[in-house]
Amino acid sequence: MDAFQFNRAATVDQAVQSAAKSPTAQQGADVRFVAGGTTLIDLMKLNVERPREVVDINGLPLDKIEATPAGGLVIGALARNSDVAHHPTVQRDYAVLSQALLSGASPQLRNMATTGGNLLQRTRCVYFRDTAHACNKREPGSGCSAIGGHNRTLAILGTSKDCIATNPSDQNVALTALEATIQIQGAKGQRSVTIHDFYLLPGSTPHRETVLEPGDIITSVTLPAPAPGTHSLYLKLRDRAAYEFALASAAIVVQVSSGKIQHVRVALGGVGTRPWRSLEAERALQGHAADAATFRRAAEAALKDAHPASENAFKVELSKRCLVRALTMSTKTA
Ligand SMILES: Cc1cc2nc3c(=O)[nH]c(=O)nc-3n(C[C@H](O)[C@H](O)[C@H](O)COP(=O)(O)OP(=O)(O)OC[C@H]3O[C@@H](n4cnc5c(N)ncnc54)[C@H](O)[C@@H]3O)c2cc1C
Ligand code: SF4
Repeated sequence: MDAFQFNRAATVDQAVQSAAKSPTAQQGADVRFVAGGTTLIDLMKLNVERPREVVDINGLPLDKIEATPAGGLVIGALARNSDVAHHPTVQRDYAVLSQALLSGASPQLRNMATTGGNLLQRTRCVYFRDTAHACNKREPGSGCSAIGGHNRTLAILGTSKDCIATNPSDQNVALTALEATIQIQGAKGQRSVTIHDFYLLPGSTPHRETVLEPGDIITSVTLPAPAPGTHSLYLKLRDRAAYEFALASAAIVVQVSSGKIQHVRVALGGVGTRPWRSLEAERALQGHAADAATFRRAAEAALKDAHPASENAFKVELSKRCLVRALTMSTKTA
């Protein structure tokens, strides 16, 4: 690990000013915030992240979980994953988020990991984490070792010829189905970005993963009020039952009445280069009978543009079955 300067931010403005000195907020940033440290410190030890300055933001008052006047919920960027997962309102109104968080990592990691840090966790592509190999995301223009290499766990949706890395988060798949909004404070003031617009597809610039600019700090995430009568669920399929990332996952928010799907949001994990909202699946479900035939049609629609690599074609059918199973489970309780 390279030498770096360590500072504590006393205010959000101070954190913004420190980070604004970096030419980029993306891969290669000179200044990095540290929250739980469970992503950043690992990557610094591997020399994948080499910031000259690390700004500790843990003293900032960004850890509250509070109701909004409109009936939604604001989750502070420093709220720990465990606290969010066990919060009574999250468990009652946003079960998909609680389930997604509890399916991730380990209890110890969840006690450290934060909402903001989880939004910005990096891919687990082995070549990204190993500086001996070419990786366009780590070093733009160097090539992609995963295409034609070990790519069993990598993405099949949203890939490009330059990068096929999966966004590994469970939280972010649930937040996508919940249509969360991310609040950001930056050098030019505050702004809100929908989670869908927050993440960029890799295209020819896989080192740019989000819309964050130098100085930007995530302050909170807002969930809209739950639509009346909706149920939600997260289903995660992986190589072992604990302490493992998703091979395929599905987050569902659904409302059924008189046997028909009145409202539905679908997001997929483990298969996309970003948390994957499937508008195709939603269109195939909306207004139709909540039955096996509809669910399978939705799964076919969701994966129709899948583009597997040499080792991960199995994910196409796995993801379809994951979605069908999640829809079956969530509409049984609806
Ligand atoms: C062994 C292991 C297993 C895991 N398994 C899973 C799993 O199954 N599922 C899953 O979803 N995740 C898993 N994770 C990932 C874990 O969820 C993330 O490491 C964690 O959520 C990151 O949060 P953090 O607060 O520790 O982030 P940090 O490491 O502190 O920060 C991560 C990045 O976010 C930036 N950052 C942090 N907060 C802010 C902010 N407020 N504004 C702007 N930038 C910010 C930092 O600068 C850094 O670049 C696992 C991690 C490990 C180590
Ligand atoms: S898939 Fe992306 S992260 Fe992995 S080696 Fe290729 S460019 Fe790097």
